[in-house]
Amino acid sequence: MIRRAGILPSIYQPPIAMIKPKLIKQFLVEPGTEVNLKDYVTDWTETDEAKELGTDVIKDRASLILEENRKHLDSAQELLYASDTHSVLLIFQAMDAAGKDGTIRHVMSGVNPQGCQVFSFKKPSAEELDHNFLWRYMKALPERGRIGIFNRSYYEDVLVVKVHPEWLGPGQPADPDHRFWEKRYEDINNFEKHLSRNGTLVLKFFLHVSKDEQKRRFLERLTNTEKHWKFSGADLEEREHWKSYQKAFADALSATSTKRAPWYVIPADRKYVARALVADIIATAIQDLKLEFPKVSPEKMALLDAAREKLEGKDKDKDQKPQS
Ligand code: AMP
Ligand code: MG
Repeated sequence: MIRRAGILPSIYQPPIAMIKPKLIKQFLVEPGTEVNLKDYVTDWTETDEAKELGTDVIKDRASLILEENRKHLDSAQELLYASDTHSVLLIFQAMDAAGKDGTIRHVMSGVNPQGCQVFSFKKPSAEELDHNFLWRYMKALPERGRIGIFNRSYYEDVLVVKVHPEWLGPGQPADPDHRFWEKRYEDINNFEKHLSRNGTLVLKFFLHVSKDEQKRRFLERLTNTEKHWKFSGADLEEREHWKSYQKAFADALSATSTKRAPWYVIPADRKYVARALVADIIATAIQDLKLEFPKVSPEKMALLDAAREKLEGKDKDKDQKPQS
């Protein structure tokens, strides 16, 4: 694309709202509401509005929505970088095999690799446990202009650790009461408030998978040789705690969905539905930031014009030189 001095580049085309905001709203956790995960579907294709469309139409639309939003995300990231006022933090949490990795791969696959970064958080090291629980995540935050993705996050510290308080680490209570967790939710809300005030758009996705679908995916990992590597013995142990995890998720989502850092409960039993929804929510939220390319000052414009004239004039001279 040719960019001429004096004409602002128009590479960013805002996305057309591909999924109706009314539909997206069903998946948003309204701040201050008590979450009951049973109120949120895991398989959206089983809803009345989906049945009306039929699976083939939904699959086609989902792939179109994903494709279009991927392009918008790439342009949006370039604008994010150029305007240099904001960063984006995307948080993914879920039960095992809900599709976090696949969703991240598919949604972000069109974005310039220089403009985004993914961090996956595993069990904390001894050094990490010796710091406050937000420390290791602070170090991984995206700088202005970039999209940062947390594949698991500080929410593990009120999820897996709430189910297994014995993993809290040294210097922490052996039997934490509800006030302990409430203080952690408060720390998280304050942290996200700080991020948002400093120009970070925070979006949080809980990929909501059913227990049956998780079983199906685990069995696939156990039978398909190319998927064996994905299976860990710990997966079945954690599945035993399904109810405690669902409760921990419901509590965390209720306490930490805020206007500035909302949670979305994404139906994840159908991967194509989850990917289309996530891509649409991210692209729309970045569009809502109403970012602009930086305005070029008259001095800079004069410089650009002079440089262009010089370059074009020089090339003309060279072209006109007789061949020897
Ligand atoms: P995976 O993402 O499948 O490689 O697994 C990473 C493991 O690390 C999961 O079992 C997580 O629950 C665990 N994990 C991540 N963050 C924490 C944390 N803050 N405390 C304890 N375990 C964690
Ligand atoms: Mg795992």
